[in-house]
Amino acid sequence: MRDPQGGITHFIAVKEDITARKRSEEQLRMYGTVFETITEGIMVTDADNRIKIVNPAFTRITGYQPEEVVGENPRMLSSGRHSPAFYAELWESLLERGSWSGEIWDRRRDGTLYPAWLSLVAIFDERRRLLEYVAVFSDITHRKESEEQIRRQANYDALTGLPNRSLLRDRLSGALKSARRERWKVALLFVDLDRFKEVNDSLGHVAGDELLQRIGERLRGCVREADTVARFGGDEFVLLLEDIKQVSDAADVCKKILRELDGPVALHGRDVFVGASIGVTLYPDDAADANTMLRNADMAMCRAKDAGRNNYQFFTLAMNEQVQHRIELERDLRQALEQGQLLLHYQPIVRLDDLRVVGVEALLRWRHPERGLVLPDTFITLAEESGLIAPIGRWVLRMACRQAGSWRAAGLALKVSVNLSSHQLAMGLEVGEIQQILGEEGLDPEGLNIEITESTMMEDSEANLEWLEQAKAVGVRLAIDDFGTGYSSLSYLKRFPMDTLKIDRTFIRDVEEHPEDISLIEAIIAMAGSLGLQVVAEGIENPAQLELMRRHGCDLGQGNLFSEALEPGRIPDLVRVGVAAAE
Ligand code: C2E
Ligand code: CA
Ligand code: CA
Repeated sequence: MRDPQGGITHFIAVKEDITARKRSEEQLRMYGTVFETITEGIMVTDADNRIKIVNPAFTRITGYQPEEVVGENPRMLSSGRHSPAFYAELWESLLERGSWSGEIWDRRRDGTLYPAWLSLVAIFDERRRLLEYVAVFSDITHRKESEEQIRRQANYDALTGLPNRSLLRDRLSGALKSARRERWKVALLFVDLDRFKEVNDSLGHVAGDELLQRIGERLRGCVREADTVARFGGDEFVLLLEDIKQVSDAADVCKKILRELDGPVALHGRDVFVGASIGVTLYPDDAADANTMLRNADMAMCRAKDAGRNNYQFFTLAMNEQVQHRIELERDLRQALEQGQLLLHYQPIVRLDDLRVVGVEALLRWRHPERGLVLPDTFITLAEESGLIAPIGRWVLRMACRQAGSWRAAGLALKVSVNLSSHQLAMGLEVGEIQQILGEEGLDPEGLNIEITESTMMEDSEANLEWLEQAKAVGVRLAIDDFGTGYSSLSYLKRFPMDTLKIDRTFIRDVEEHPEDISLIEAIIAMAGSLGLQVVAEGIENPAQLELMRRHGCDLGQGNLFSEALEPGRIPDLVRVGVAAAE
């Protein structure tokens, strides 16, 4: 302050705390930075929906500079892809709830469309007057693409591009729902290629893959656009036919498929023939749910295979019962071993000239608690398919060796024959294990005769040949079982180190009706002789057959004429007195 002369008398200072202002400036600066650098596009419009301000990300995403859009209606960004109802709903939510968010398609400055995730907020003042709208959005093109890719991977088979198992299930469930509502019929076809494995093995995987693609295309060509052709796995395809009028429609499609797949497919300069077996099941005739339908169709397909391939079969209730029966039997068989329900019967093998018992064949029996004594024909295949043959087979070997060992100890020199299934070899039964069992049960290897069928030898001939040579080296005897029912290949016989050949009982049976077959038996015996093999005639049931086999120089025989398979306790008497064969 100055006096009248202008001299300074006082100073007055006013101090103001501007922390808050500084803070809000700082905050504004920070908000500004966020606005400038955030990757989401931001657009603020006024109450009349005119664009007030946009951020750099907006420009990056849409291609519009701020000066091109400020003052404009955001409508200029719309793609034209959404219906008026879509926008109406958006506005309703925005005005009523103050916000909206969701996926929206917009258009860039260059005309291209892009999907965006958009959040809209309406801003009101304290008197509930609308001030402005704020839109925050991001371009989700990449996310959409990877979502689509994931969806494809999850639902389509990469090789053929056809729907996969999981999409098929969805479609089948959907089809059944509509069929229920509309009272339609639905057919499900299970198609399994007959000779895919051969092609794959001989021409290689590349050709195999190409073949599957071709087959996929051919199958697509057999049905209407609306029907589904799915790759179920491996060489299995499933067709879903919706809204079929009558059963014969499904049969017609089957015939068409068989015709299509019966012809040659040109692959790498070669014509290959695959063929297919088809199982069919219908809604509502056979089942009401997706799982049962798939099971039925699969079952019917297996039946088509059994019926000689290259044909189709409709599911029937009888198939179901049979399968049910098998399931129960398999369940029971799992316990049979632990619960001591398995036992061995022994059928004498006799020398034909003096009818002395020189050996026995161990034959498996199952004393089922409800079904009584079950013969192996009903359960060996089951044991093979379920893998149970491995433990069961080991048990048979051990019990048979133990029995033979105890007969030996009682002064009875009997060779014991044990049947070995190809599955046991494939599942890794080692010669060493057999040696160990022999050692533990106190039996010389020469006392054990292993019977394997002709088809077993052919199955994986190289590996099996090695196995047999090892067994032979250990001293175990080897017999070829059911000779004449398989390939009966002479060259195999020569290569494999066998000791005995067992002529299948169908030959012995048929020779009475077809005397000309005797020349076959003669040839087998002569051939066996020249290869140094002992011959056993199986299934001798009457004196005429015995006489015939004797006359043709067959060494040994087996059959009900001498004795059926017996409990082990009854064998010693037979050995001592020989078998009776009323002549
Ligand atoms: P296989 O090895 O050919 O055994 C001979 C079958 O012919 C036995 O049937 C026997 O009872 C039967 N048989 C014997 N003599 C006559 C006859 O005069 N007439 C007729 N019609 N049949 C006769 P089984 O015991 O029912 O065995 C059937 C098949 O089951 C066997 O055929 C064999 O392949 C298999 N098998 C039996 N036990 C075992 C085993 O422990 N392991 C394996 N892997 N398979 C076994
Ligand atoms: Ca046998
Ligand atoms: Ca046999």
